Amino acid sequence: MRVLLISDIHANLEAMEACLAIAPEHDVVVNLGDIVGYGASPNEVLERSRDLGKTFVRGNHDKAASGQMELRDFNPVAGLAALWTREHLKPENLEWLRNVPQGPVRVAELPEIQFVHGSPIDEDEYVVTLDDAVEPLTIASTAITFFGHTHLQGLFFSNGNAPDFYRPPYKSIGKAETVQFKLRPNTRYMVNPGSVGQPRDGDWRAAFALFDTETRMVTFCRTPYGLKSAQDRILAANLPQRLATRLAAGR
Ligand code: ZN
Repeated sequence: MRVLLISDIHANLEAMEACLAIAPEHDVVVNLGDIVGYGASPNEVLERSRDLGKTFVRGNHDKAASGQMELRDFNPVAGLAALWTREHLKPENLEWLRNVPQGPVRVAELPEIQFVHGSPIDEDEYVVTLDDAVEPLTIASTAITFFGHTHLQGLFFSNGNAPDFYRPPYKSIGKAETVQFKLRPNTRYMVNPGSVGQPRDGDWRAAFALFDTETRMVTFCRTPYGLKSAQDRILAANLPQRLATRLAAGR
């Protein structure tokens, strides 16, 4: 089965459409959360996400926007964006967002995989460094965990020896590109497809990934998108300016 993995779209419709336009052929779509928050197209992105598939994990911004989390845990910019999102989501979309399940989420046809937003231990935990990944890799109930939340594309792995990590080595900064990584047997993985709508690894291009369960190949993808249009929407919505400028820097 070919699983398209999208995460941290953050209401960036232009980035989402660009990803779907170049996405390799796939059988199912799994969404790892933070559908909304920061960007200015929450209804469009939520409705498009809902129509794409049926496997979702809730993110902290989904919880915040739908009133399931205290905003004082957020920095001021994220808090403002969450309030704006709550005010602008249609009632039926708010209701749908409230019902997105907490991870880990499992799919019957994919027995060796689980899906989380932050980590299998804590849905809000950031797995940024190799150190952060050691415990989740050890206790994970499946060999492969797909996660998001950090907006950093790449993977961590452990085969009983020293754990290690991998970041896709892209060649350009302006073109659509893919990099493949084959998962080995008897190894545990935490794989992050990166953020569709607000990358933070210094590469402004929208990020996502595809996993083929038969070949065990992860295809990491990056694509340019309508950055200016996404920024203009943020500014026109009177959301904090920083949310527009950071998209260009990929930070
Ligand atoms: Zn996020």
